[in-house]
Amino acid sequence: MSGAVIDGKAFAAGLRARVADFAATFEQAAGRKAGLAVVLVGDDPASQVYVASKAKQTALCGMASFEHRLPEDTAQDALLALIDRLNGDPAVDGILVQLPLPRHLDEQAVVARISPAKDVDGLTPISTGRLALGLPGLVPCTPLGSLMLLKDRLGDLSGLDAVVIGRSILVGKPMAQLLLAENCTVTVAHSRTKNLPDAVRRADIVVAAVGRPEMVRGDWIKPGATVIDVGINRLPPEEGQAKGRLVGDVAYAEALEVARAVTPVPGGVGPMTIAVLLRNAVVAAHRNAGVALADGAL
Ligand code: NDP
Repeated sequence: MSGAVIDGKAFAAGLRARVADFAATFEQAAGRKAGLAVVLVGDDPASQVYVASKAKQTALCGMASFEHRLPEDTAQDALLALIDRLNGDPAVDGILVQLPLPRHLDEQAVVARISPAKDVDGLTPISTGRLALGLPGLVPCTPLGSLMLLKDRLGDLSGLDAVVIGRSILVGKPMAQLLLAENCTVTVAHSRTKNLPDAVRRADIVVAAVGRPEMVRGDWIKPGATVIDVGINRLPPEEGQAKGRLVGDVAYAEALEVARAVTPVPGGVGPMTIAVLLRNAVVAAHRNAGVALADGAL
């Protein structure tokens, strides 16, 4: 038996097209474009690439993109002052601070300063609390994108056994909350979990967000399970190659043999993250401007 490949790239393209439609009708209704501000501190090369890509995609969806690039030695007060300014700027509907921040900055305090109404990354204590309480709010992009892929593939998730491997604030914990809200029975596994393979074997849904290349093996997976691989790991380069291959946290070829469906790396969850960021920005714009948005429309 061979499972299906979940094409996150295609799904993300569809989502971006829907976001562009909503951005256009928003502009007509509100008399201005929806706006997303991205703040980058320092010159980490990977972060530079992410920020450039986010700005480009924002503009392609018909939204205004505001980039704020600050030097590595930016002081905490200066960064907080910028966030206060963006919180008060009516042209800005969403604020994303590119993480990780340089070590001298207090990441938690910076994120907490973002207005919950503009928290498109869903990482402020208010957004996190609202998710835990089951109240509407902005949800972290990677787990929400993963949930979208699961619902597209499986429809109603009610009653399914899910295992989430990883308990980070960014991925594992919000993923578990989202699956619980869909009435899954959720196990959250982490580095201290005893007998992880057995926990995975019981699951109809496996979400791996660990950061360990190909850790989840094919014989851990229940036949017919659906596997979402969030991990992005670069292997050491093979001889004659400048860069190593990108792999996920799941041994992809093995998993495909037993699973119902698996997300590839790259081309699975990765493209969903930016698409959901844009989705969150346009949703925030509607709420901030008091323009109605049909529930579940995006
Ligand atoms: P973190 O490092 O913050 O969290 C990793 C989690 O994995 C921790 O909860 C840790 O447990 C757990 N873990 C570590 N080793 C093991 C093990 N041997 N067995 C079981 N659990 C283990 O990572 P993130 O959540 O931020 O990211 C996870 C992966 O997803 C990374 O590869 C990252 O690059 C990728 N990622 C991909 C995104 C995308 O857009 N596709 C977006 C964000 C992340 P403990 O808490 O006990 O330490």
